[in-house]
Amino acid sequence: MSDDCLFCKIINGDIPADIVAQTDHVLAFRDINPQAKTHVLIIPKVHIQSTRELNDDNVHYLMDMAVMANNIAENEGIMESGYRWVINTGDDGGQTVHHIHLHLLGGRKLHWPPG
Ligand code: 5GP
Ligand code: ZN
Repeated sequence: MSDDCLFCKIINGDIPADIVAQTDHVLAFRDINPQAKTHVLIIPKVHIQSTRELNDDNVHYLMDMAVMANNIAENEGIMESGYRWVINTGDDGGQTVHHIHLHLLGGRKLHWPPG
């Protein structure tokens, strides 16, 4: 855990969030500024800054995040219509919170390429 990390504070319950699902390893909650009807953030319950810090020892969290995203897509009714997974990394990637998170976006037609 990182003391000054917003998402670690959500994991600890210090900051409230609209929690959708969780396991021992991952937490899913609704984005405070949703960009689609479904916009859920899925994070590991340990502080990993970004995709840059993924390695053999912690990449299993990404697997848990992926399975969680599928369960949520099913529950949100967007499995058939489609959805997008996004993980932003670093400044050019548009990352603003430095605790790795997978955006699950769906419920509307999403454009490509992203801006
Ligand atoms: P990034 O730009 O780092 O990929 O995504 C960070 C996301 O976190 C943004 O979509 C932003 O709306 C969301 N966010 C920022 N602060 C909070 C918060 O306090 N609560 C929740 N639920 N989402 C937040
Ligand atoms: Zn953190």
